[in-house]
This record gives sequence, C-alpha cells and structure tokens, in this order.
Amino acid sequence: MSDDETVEEYLFKIVIIGDSAVGKSNLLSRFARNEFNAHSKATIGVEFQTQSVEIDGKEVKAQIWDTAGQERFRAVTSAYYRGAFGALLVYDISRRATFDNVARWLDELNSHSDTTVAKMLVGNKCDLENTREVSLDEGKSLAESEGLFFIETSALDSTNVWTAFKIVIREIYNNVSRKVL
Ligand code: GDP
Repeated sequence: MSDDETVEEYLFKIVIIGDSAVGKSNLLSRFARNEFNAHSKATIGVEFQTQSVEIDGKEVKAQIWDTAGQERFRAVTSAYYRGAFGALLVYDISRRATFDNVARWLDELNSHSDTTVAKMLVGNKCDLENTREVSLDEGKSLAESEGLFFIETSALDSTNVWTAFKIVIREIYNNVSRKVL
C-alpha cells in the first residue's frame, strides 16, 4: 500500500457545556443516535458518545462528552475539560438566564483550555420561536466579540444539529492538520 492509500484515523474529544436543561444531552443524542428525549434524565455522571464524520475523505471520530447533570452542582471538574479539542457552549433561546450565564461558562472553559480549542456558541431550542427571549443578533454579536462560531439549533426538530458538530470537528481537523504540516 502506498502512503496515499494509508487510511488515517483521527479521534478528538469535544465537550458540551452550559446551564442545566438547555438541551446538551439531547443535542448529543440527536447527533450520535438521531434520538430525542422529551423528559430529562436524572442520571448524574459524565457520559460520552462517539460519532464519525467524513472530512476531506477521511474518517474523523468525535468523542463527545456530556456533563450529564454535573453542572447542577457547579461540579464540572477539570477532568471533564482535559484533552478537549473542541467545545459546544449551549444556551436556550427561550430562557435569557441561560444566555446571561454564557460568560461564566466561557471563563471556565478558557481557564481549562488553550486558545486552539474550537469553540461554538449554540442557541438551542430555536423551534420555540413563540417564547424566544434571546434574539439571533444577540447570539451572533456575543459570538463575534468572543471569537466563537455561532449557530442556532433545535435538538427537537434536528435543525442545524449535524452542522453544529460538523463545523467544530472540521475546525479541529484544520487546526491539527496545520500543526502537523
Ligand atoms: P441538559 O440538562 O442541558 O442536558 O438538557 P436536556 O437535553 O436534558 O433537555 C432539557 C429539556 O429540554 C428536556 O425536557 C428536553 O426534552 C428539552 N429540549 C432539549 N432540546 C430541545 C429543543 O431543541 N427544543 C425543545 N423544544 N425542547 C428541547
């Protein structure tokens, strides 16, 4: 087999953070298993799931971690962030308090990671247009001022969920490729 035919495999850790009940677990289950759960599960403990995407003809695996309720006790540990190449920072567009807390989550993320971590601000539950409390522009401008990617999603109806993860995974892949070259 020539070098060109060698199958390269990449595995990157991505973390999902944000306030309780913004939809972190459902974004992950929608992306990894195409499932949605109407009722929050009460399980406490870190969980991760793996999903592969194809980037530039290569299989890139993402190991995506979910806080699984740790944030309710302000107990997201440094082990959770360790080794992460990317992060989705999620708020709920129908609950302003979750958007107001983004700055705190970003501080915590930055204190545990370096600048090369690919960060995406995610306004979830965009299906709840009728009860929206945070405008699209507010999300966009916060992301711009903090240098984050930005997207609105719905884990309920699948809007942009795949795209959100794929943008982060592609950015990680690009960052790593740049370092290798
Ligand atoms: P987590 O605590 O951040 O992991 O949030 P969950 O994924 O457990 O979701 C919290 C609640 O919000 C659950 O009742 C979900 O069914 C609901 N939920 C999650 N994502 C969405 C969404 O995109 N739209 C709507 N309408 N509800 C959602």
